[in-house]
Amino acid sequence: MDKNFLEELDNELSNSNSNLIPKNTKKSVININNNQQFFSDTLNKNNLNFPQVKFYLPTIRDKYTRFIPIWWNNETGWKNMNMFQYWEEILLLDCWLQFAELEMLWANYSIPDISFLIPYKKNIVWIIITHAHLDHIWALKHILPALWMPTIYSSKLTLWIIKKHLEEYNLLKDAKFTEIDSSKEEIITIWNSFKCDFFWVNHSVPDSLGVYIETPGWTKIMHTWDFKIDLAPEIDKPADLSKIWSLWKKWITLFLSDSTWSTRKWFSTSEKEIWMNLEKIISTHNNWRLIITLFSSWISRVQQIINACEIYDKYIFLSWKSLVDNVNISKELWYLKSKTGRIRKMSPKNTDWIPLEKQIIITTWSQWEEFSALTRMAEWKHNTIEIIPWDTIIFSSSVVPWNEKSVYWIINKLIKLWANIITKDNWEVHTWWHAFQEEQKIMLNLVSPSYFVPVYWDLYFRHVHKKTALSLWMPEENVLLLDNWNIIDFWPDWKVFRSKIKVPIQDLIIDWNWIWTTNSHVIQAREKMMNSWVVVVLYKVDSKTRAIIDSLKIETRWLVYLDEVRTIHKLIIKKVKSTYENTIKDVPEIEEKDLLKIIKTDLESFLEKKIDRNPMIIPIIVNI
Ligand SMILES: [Zn+2]
Repeated sequence: MDKNFLEELDNELSNSNSNLIPKNTKKSVININNNQQFFSDTLNKNNLNFPQVKFYLPTIRDKYTRFIPIWWNNETGWKNMNMFQYWEEILLLDCWLQFAELEMLWANYSIPDISFLIPYKKNIVWIIITHAHLDHIWALKHILPALWMPTIYSSKLTLWIIKKHLEEYNLLKDAKFTEIDSSKEEIITIWNSFKCDFFWVNHSVPDSLGVYIETPGWTKIMHTWDFKIDLAPEIDKPADLSKIWSLWKKWITLFLSDSTWSTRKWFSTSEKEIWMNLEKIISTHNNWRLIITLFSSWISRVQQIINACEIYDKYIFLSWKSLVDNVNISKELWYLKSKTGRIRKMSPKNTDWIPLEKQIIITTWSQWEEFSALTRMAEWKHNTIEIIPWDTIIFSSSVVPWNEKSVYWIINKLIKLWANIITKDNWEVHTWWHAFQEEQKIMLNLVSPSYFVPVYWDLYFRHVHKKTALSLWMPEENVLLLDNWNIIDFWPDWKVFRSKIKVPIQDLIIDWNWIWTTNSHVIQAREKMMNSWVVVVLYKVDSKTRAIIDSLKIETRWLVYLDEVRTIHKLIIKKVKSTYENTIKDVPEIEEKDLLKIIKTDLESFLEKKIDRNPMIIPIIVNI
């Protein structure tokens, strides 16, 4: 074991008001052609304001390569981004998003916190996106303008899907793209420091990439964010194991890899096996309509259904915009092939002339979209289709952990409508799109890194991935379980330094077009309202004498039960009236905001003592 392992960075380096550029350097800062005015306009237009943070990245030493995981709390795997730095140059990898959860209190979704990077935006000119899953590209519309539109590097299909997405947010004309062809044997040098190569991996969306990054400091990094190894995929080629192995020959310093299903033994099922099961269902269901639900980016599954339709003379109808967009793009790029007229957008005009038993409807059920097409069909709110008895619904997608409840909610609804349900529990109609243990072992053996960082998902899954690495040949001290605020520097002689400085990453949520932290006053108020009760007190007062005119009005919500309303309301009125009058008598010149504060705190402690409840109190004074 290297005795300098995880040595702390020197304090003197990090406490100063340093910036990215090391002191005593003559190297010039790269001039980037940007238009600050335009981007601040875009920002204002979208109401995008990342919180301002006072933070300076510790100065990076010469020849060091830095890695910062921009995660959140390490318990939630979703809103991830990784940052690499060499000299004054920063490279970002992926840009995740976490879909709405109950704890977000009705906000739309959550994104990685790049606030600390905003002062360094001139140092960030590119961002790599590994694949086209919605949760990897959706946050780009917030991140790109905030960072002055760094160039996006990705594979062909991913870029097209990103372009479609940015077009909807009026960002396409200012975005810059570079397409990666991972089948080519070429190292791409961008800027001065990062040399990158890309390799093909399997996932549920075609054209997914793994990344190799090399810096002049002799640090070599390999990163497979979402991946699996499928030797019989539908549209893709199998993961490019020979290229991965050829990159190993460069001696990999740091390997970051997907831990999602590290707990699952053996191999994940191949797409070809799923095809056989789907084909069996499609060929035998001749009396009923079939509705198949999947993720909108699952292009290879759509191809499988097309193949079966052509054999068994059925017609496909697509319901949901993102699905139609992705299928159109994939057809245009020849990832998806179908004969004319076999696949159409869902509309009454298109379906009316096809008998129900010849219809296969593909729709989305992505588990977080409250208004996804299947929910609407089940609630009879869809503009074209309603679930009727004997419709057969195939859930050809998996349940994202923590979302089981919402999936059972929709299944219950469908059963009540007498629909037939097929899930992967009663028929193998879906495979996992993340590597199982044996695939993870193959990847670890091929890459043979000096250091390994399991990425993505709860600490538990990353811990199990660590155990898998230890079961091979890795020494325990070389497997790093990181937190979201860590700053890790690699030195070419294999030493690793973990800084004492913590990156100030907060829990950011998007509420419509606004960015908030979870401790913002709006979210705190929602939380309070959710956990407690509300009392509104309305005073009508004379604007000159400040005397109360008329009787006080109060409204309460969720505070009192029917048989105690009168008594408690009376108590409250008596209390707030006396607090108001006594305060005005004691301090006649008191400002209204201070008076309101006193009324609030006074009533708060009164109610806690009297009825042991702690409501939100909203006093309002109307001056007449
Ligand atoms: Zn993915």
